[in-house]
Amino acid sequence: MDPLLYLGVLVILFLLWIKVKGIDYVIIHQRWIFVCLFLLPLSVIFDVYYYVRAWIIFKVCSAPKLHDQRVRDIQRQVCEWQKEGGKTRMCTGRPGWLTVSLRVGKYKKTHKNIMINMMDILEVDTKRQVVRVEPLASMGQVTALLNSIGWTLPVLPELDDLTVGGLVMGTGIESSSHIYGLFQHICVAYELVLADGSLVRCTEKENSELFYSVPWSCGTLGFLVAAEIRIIPARKWVKLRYKAVHGLDAICKTFAEESANKDNQFVEGLQYSLNEAVIMTGTMTDNAEPDKINRIGHYYKPWFFKHVEKFLKEDSGAVEYIPLRHYYHRHTRSIFWELQVNQGKHIIRTILTFTNAFVFVHRIYAPSGAQRCEQFCGLRTRLQI
Ligand SMILES: Cc1cc2nc3c(=O)[nH]c(=O)nc-3n(C[C@H](O)[C@H](O)[C@H](O)COP(=O)(O)OP(=O)(O)OC[C@H]3O[C@@H](n4cnc5c(N)ncnc54)[C@H](O)[C@@H]3O)c2cc1C
Repeated sequence: MDPLLYLGVLVILFLLWIKVKGIDYVIIHQRWIFVCLFLLPLSVIFDVYYYVRAWIIFKVCSAPKLHDQRVRDIQRQVCEWQKEGGKTRMCTGRPGWLTVSLRVGKYKKTHKNIMINMMDILEVDTKRQVVRVEPLASMGQVTALLNSIGWTLPVLPELDDLTVGGLVMGTGIESSSHIYGLFQHICVAYELVLADGSLVRCTEKENSELFYSVPWSCGTLGFLVAAEIRIIPARKWVKLRYKAVHGLDAICKTFAEESANKDNQFVEGLQYSLNEAVIMTGTMTDNAEPDKINRIGHYYKPWFFKHVEKFLKEDSGAVEYIPLRHYYHRHTRSIFWELQVNQGKHIIRTILTFTNAFVFVHRIYAPSGAQRCEQFCGLRTRLQI
C-alpha cells in the first residue's frame, strides 16, 4: 500500500481513538502525544526564532545600542498609562506560559501590560568583575556566554530558563548559596523604570533603600531594565563527591556540616525517602581524572536525579568530574520532562520516560537558549570587554 495511505489510515484511527476517549483524557493521561506532536515542534520553532535573533544581534552588535531605546519604550508605555489616568495597575507583559512558575497570573488579563522586550547580555567588565544584563536574559544564556570566556556567576540557579528579572524580583538560590547567599546578594546594581516613568539606578551607596527593597518585591516597586551582577573565574570541571546518608537525623547533620565547610563550593542533597539521601559536595577544578569524567548533560545520559539515586547503594561514596555547564544545568532535562501539575498525591509525575533518544536532543539539551547562544554570545562579549 502507498505509504501516504498508511499514514492517512493511522491518522484516522488516531482521531477516532481521541473521539472515543475524549480530548480531556488524552491531554491529561497521555501527555506524551501532546508533547511529541505539538509542544516539541513548537518549541523547536520558538528556539530557532531566538537563535536567528541572537545571530542577527551578534552580527550587528546592537544589544548595548538598542538597550537605551528599549528603556525609552518602557518609559513611554508607563507615561501612556499615566495619561490614561492610571486606572488599572501595571504589570509585566510577559505571558504566564513563558515563565518557569506553574502559576499563570489572572491579573495579566486585567492590568495594564508593560512589554519588557529585553533579553540581552549588555557587557562583561572583567576588570570590575561584573556582568550587566537585561532582565529577560536567562541562566542558559548567561552560562553559555560567561563560561566560554572563563567566568561564571557565583550563584547560578540551575534551570536554563530562569531569568535575571525573575530571580531578582522573585527569588534565586543555588548549591553555592551557603557561601555567596541568594541571587540578590551577588547583584551590585539595579536599573529600574518607576511608576512616574523615571529611570533610576540603585546600588549599595546610591539610592540604597531602593537597592535593598528590590529583591523579592515581585515588580511592585518598578520595572527592572538592567542588573549588574558579580562574576568570578570559572574552572572547567566540578569535582563532585557523592555520599549516601541513611536516617533523617544523619541527613540533616551531614548537610549542615558540609554546608559549614567553606571548602565545598557546592553542596546539594537529594532525598529519595524519609530516611535516604545522597549528599553531594563539589569544587571547581581545571584538572580531571579522565576515567572519572561524566558528561551528564548529553542527551543519552540518565536524568541527573536517577543517576544520583544509584549512589544510595554505594556507602563508600564516589567521585566524578562533570563539565561546569553540565553541572549547572543538571536538573533542566529532568524538570522539563517530569513535572506535571499537582494531581492527587503526586506532585511530580512523568510525562515521558523515553527521552534519552536522539530525537529529543533539541529540547533536552537546549530548553531555551542555552546552546543557541553559545556560539554567538562568546564572540559578542569578547568584542565588548
Ligand atoms: C519547577 C521550578 C523549578 C525551580 N527551580 C529553581 C532553581 O533551581 N533555583 C532557583 O533559584 N529557583 C528555582 N525556582 C523558583 C524560581 O526561581 C522563581 O519562581 C523565579 O521567580 C522564576 O523566574 P522566572 O524567570 O520564570 O520569572 P517570572 O515568573 O517571570 O517572574 C517572577 C516575578 O518577578 C517579576 N518580574 C520579572 N521580571 C521583572 C521585571 N523586569 N521587572 C519587574 N518585575 C519583574 C514578575 O512580575 C514576577 O512577580 C523554580 C521554580 C519552579 C516552578
